[in-house]
Amino acid sequence: MHFIEDMSAIATALHSNSTLPTFLPQGLTKVERVGMTRNASRTPYVVYWVGERRCCTFFKRQLFFKLLKVLVAIAHTTINTVKCVETTEWGGLKIKAATAAWILARAQVNKFFYSYHQVIFEQVTLSLQSEHAMISDRSGRNYMITSHNNHDTCSCPDLYDSCSHRIAATLALLPLGFTTVTAYLASKNKNKTSVLEGNCINRTTAIAAR
Ligand SMILES: [Zn+2]
Repeated sequence: MHFIEDMSAIATALHSNSTLPTFLPQGLTKVERVGMTRNASRTPYVVYWVGERRCCTFFKRQLFFKLLKVLVAIAHTTINTVKCVETTEWGGLKIKAATAAWILARAQVNKFFYSYHQVIFEQVTLSLQSEHAMISDRSGRNYMITSHNNHDTCSCPDLYDSCSHRIAATLALLPLGFTTVTAYLASKNKNKTSVLEGNCINRTTAIAAR
């Protein structure tokens, strides 16, 4: 029962393209750097590659902070607001929240912005089952997110925390108050009913490109 209610919320979350839009083109091959301009406006920018072409785009600060919230949620913990962001001398980011701060390595930040766009460009099916979450991409490949040592682990060969499947799951679960599949399943299993036994609920969600 709860699953069904939650799944409609997840569908809404994944459809709400307006709140988390894409700002890089679909042919994106690599993100080289994410930073902020040195002038007073501190405008966020991304330097990226489309094939052999190197490009740069500026985007809104509000969106930058929103995405960093998702990245911190995946890599570390849930935070309510990002208070301030600074670039480190190695091209990483220092993210400050109300009571804590995190340093994110350049490779980790670049990978997140790349994978985030892959999530938005793909049509994914998110299926929450009693022991794991399954993410299926447009080509029919399945990836399983399971809980190991109280931490989400994805079955894909991507060794980074921010693989596109974990980003998809976190984007879907954030509006429900969860940042990991582990936390979501733990809360569901606490109130487990016979309805959930052996059942799985599937919902295909199209994430439209801009
Ligand atoms: Zn993955």
